[in-house]
Amino acid sequence: MPQKLLATDLDGTLFGLRGSRANASCLRKLGQALLENSVRLVFVTGRHIELALSAIEEHSLPLPCSIVCNVGTEIFFMDRKGGWRKDPEWEKYLSRKAKSHGFGAVSRALGCVEGATEQEREKQGQFKRSYYMAIKGAPSALREMRGIIRRKKIGARIIYSADPQSMLGLADVLPKGTSKKSAVEFLRRKWGIGKACVIAAGDSGNDAQLLSGYSAIVVGNAMPDLRAALGRGKPSKMQGRYFARRPCACGVLEGMKHFLGVA
Ligand SMILES: [Mg+2]
Repeated sequence: MPQKLLATDLDGTLFGLRGSRANASCLRKLGQALLENSVRLVFVTGRHIELALSAIEEHSLPLPCSIVCNVGTEIFFMDRKGGWRKDPEWEKYLSRKAKSHGFGAVSRALGCVEGATEQEREKQGQFKRSYYMAIKGAPSALREMRGIIRRKKIGARIIYSADPQSMLGLADVLPKGTSKKSAVEFLRRKWGIGKACVIAAGDSGNDAQLLSGYSAIVVGNAMPDLRAALGRGKPSKMQGRYFARRPCACGVLEGMKHFLGVA
């Protein structure tokens, strides 16, 4: 059987706002199913590495082969001593890309956009500038940001999602062509895994691109923006897309059983 890969988001996908006993049990079953079917596990998250590692501990998540952090701008592998190290190849690639796209100018250029506030320092990355905005005011703030980026000829893209926990709009500005999906593609090629063998799971708008390229699991608690991007439908009618009934890890488990063909 060819090697499979599960690339899954963390917040809202493997665990929810509040931990539940059912979710913990589904997480254990999911870890077991991945082991039994030799599925490689990759976490793909907007979190930075320290926050991703604390989520692994707090929720007793299965240990992944790799963690894609900061919306695809950093890839981490475990070293022999059990510490997590950035993939130097990906860093070098993004560094070249950011330089040629003039990405360094983003902060200054977007500093005065009305309705957009820079997120805390620890939420910024070398190749990611992040902003908060009110969900209601997001369309006009995003329009202004895109206009500035275009006028200043900066090679950057904005990924927007609404955070159900804080009820805030979150905008991540990344070097053009960078995304959760481009990082997963890098890993897939590195490991020689076919595109058809990748299953992606997510819950919100910033997972849309990742989920649209592979077999996809949309968890039961997914935000309307992701459902709209992928289209609704019954699992049997939407080949390659599985809209789970249950939330979070239980939904991912449901989807994995569907794609792996196990009961
Ligand atoms: Mg999420």
